[in-house]
Amino acid sequence: MALVALLPNPLTIVLAIMVIGSRQLGLAILMHEGAHGGLAVNGKLNLWLSQWLCAYPVGAETLAYRRYHLQHHAHAQTERDPDLPLSAPFPTTRASLRRKLLRDLSGRTGLRQRLAQLRGAAGTAGMPVGERRATFLARLGRPLLVNAIMLAALAAAGFWWLYPLLWLLPLLTWFQAVTRIRNIAEHSVLPAGDAWRVARTTRAGWIERAAGAVLGELPRRASHDGVRAVLPAGTPAPVAAGKGARCQARDQAGLPGDAARGRIKTIAALRAPGHQPGGIRLALPARRAMLA
Ligand SMILES: [Zn+2]
Repeated sequence: MALVALLPNPLTIVLAIMVIGSRQLGLAILMHEGAHGGLAVNGKLNLWLSQWLCAYPVGAETLAYRRYHLQHHAHAQTERDPDLPLSAPFPTTRASLRRKLLRDLSGRTGLRQRLAQLRGAAGTAGMPVGERRATFLARLGRPLLVNAIMLAALAAAGFWWLYPLLWLLPLLTWFQAVTRIRNIAEHSVLPAGDAWRVARTTRAGWIERAAGAVLGELPRRASHDGVRAVLPAGTPAPVAAGKGARCQARDQAGLPGDAARGRIKTIAALRAPGHQPGGIRLALPARRAMLA
């Protein structure tokens, strides 16, 4: 933003949209960590960080995301996976992929999703006005507040126009495209049915790492589902199947939502030699290091 403020021209603007859109994906990924209770040991602090610093700025909500996302983990790459439409249509033709990316980059995907979000927050037909207002504020009040603060801060600095140009525009365009690419890298063209083979790791060379600045977190983080899995209670641990160490099985009882019904099992050390199978409770820095 500072670059564009100092030197506003088409090149710096496009570059800033790419960098900021990929950092917005970074925030969404940090919200994902928060949804798994991975940002802080203290549940309340974890939720606060996830909501106010990661989710609300990009118009998301951690608890709603968690309910949705646990379905993805529990049913990855099956018909009950809510993320299936992102990875199912692959392999596909170049023309189709081009159309999808054009839809994302032109803002059509983003606008459609945001309109659906607004419609959902506006309540249902026949709902009393007071209830509608309460529903709207409960769903979007805090994301709108955080975005209003960002706009106000930029306006106070004399650059209000940077908010629509370099926050909303990247969110509606580049963010959508890198989210799609990340999902393709992670899940597409993998066999359904085996819970331990429905996600892949993308190893990154230096070119991909450098490109990561504009392409999002694809190289480093694409394997999160391979490292962690949220399973319904009673699912055999992968340790039993010889597929890794169950490092932590922590109930998310302190946090509302579906997490309380299923156990969140942090599956780590899937490829670390010399692990101790079962029951290791890893300190947070160690878990962070593995997920980095
Ligand atoms: Zn996850």
